Amino acid sequence: MIIVLQPDLQDEGAAIATIETAAARHPGVEAKPYQFEGARHHFTEVHLIGQTTGLPVELFEELPGVLRVIRVSSRYRLIGRHEAVEEKVGFTYNGVALDNHQVHVFAGLCAVDTPEHVDEMFAACAQVGIKTTRMGAYKPRTSPYDFQGLGADCLPWVFESAGRHGIAIVSMEITDARQIDEIEAGLRAAGDPTGVMLQVGTRNAQNFELLKAIGQQRRFPVLFKRGMGITLEESLNACEYIASEGNPNIVFCLRGVKSHLGDPHRNLVDFAHVPIVRRLTRLPVCIDPSHSVGCMVDAPDGLPDIYHATGQGIVAGASAVLVDFHPHPEKALCDGPQALLPSDLPRLLAYVATMRGAYDQAVREHAESRA
Ligand code: PEP
Ligand code: MN
Repeated sequence: MIIVLQPDLQDEGAAIATIETAAARHPGVEAKPYQFEGARHHFTEVHLIGQTTGLPVELFEELPGVLRVIRVSSRYRLIGRHEAVEEKVGFTYNGVALDNHQVHVFAGLCAVDTPEHVDEMFAACAQVGIKTTRMGAYKPRTSPYDFQGLGADCLPWVFESAGRHGIAIVSMEITDARQIDEIEAGLRAAGDPTGVMLQVGTRNAQNFELLKAIGQQRRFPVLFKRGMGITLEESLNACEYIASEGNPNIVFCLRGVKSHLGDPHRNLVDFAHVPIVRRLTRLPVCIDPSHSVGCMVDAPDGLPDIYHATGQGIVAGASAVLVDFHPHPEKALCDGPQALLPSDLPRLLAYVATMRGAYDQAVREHAESRA
């Protein structure tokens, strides 16, 4: 059972205490408060966990400060979409609203290599007005002999350069909980000029200790990439782990699933799952066409396959795109063959805008035809 408190409640502590006292009268029921930042309001929910089946809803509806009480049948009690709870899709971080209202493109290097390449990429983002980017400092590689990323050493100069170009969010994969402290230290060393989203890579989608550590901090939001070889439900439960530890600020990213049925693409593109994730959860949905498709080749119509996959995700309702770029793909130390050139960025943004326009129009026309 979820008890939603009135937004921006003055005496929230007293309201929570009253609910906890009422819950304590029922053996086997535990009350756990959770805080959320909506687009305009601060929300608190108190979740009743355990033997709640026989609990009457009215008992809690009448308590001071309670907006509504919801019986949850969904397994995803924190990330799940529950009837009539509005305002809760997404969050704002460092001035960027990650929700369903607009599409954000996170364009950047798969792996940080040189200060010049990083700087060139951020400059290209700044030129087209993008404040969101990706940069890999810790790379989980299939072979131990492949480039493993520059690690903590590169963080101060990466963040300094990001700040200089007005980048607000750098999505950065972490492979170990200790890297959260390294990122904090790197930001501090650079004077906190930018923000970081902790990226959970597909290979760590069920690294539960990492998920818990990421959930136990709220400074950095999370870009969670679905597990490449597990069900969608298992990936959503992984996000529930992060949220249940206290961090609900998660973007769910589809990046294709491992199957030779996707050949010759790197993965089988799974962007048909965008509406499912949106229906089941209140997480904004991102798509990663680069790691899905895995190569820069053009279709007979002239558009690269990576563009086509991007369009499929956006038309399905995704509101973020994570995409690999490199100023010199032939020199990239990781995933060069799938990288776009910084000079492609204006074209990609125009394409994204066209596809989002088509999505908005389709949604509008469908609603009108049913009215
Ligand atoms: C990445 O985005 O750099 C990456 C390694 O992706 P994935 O975890 O989806 O393979
Ligand atoms: Mn990569």
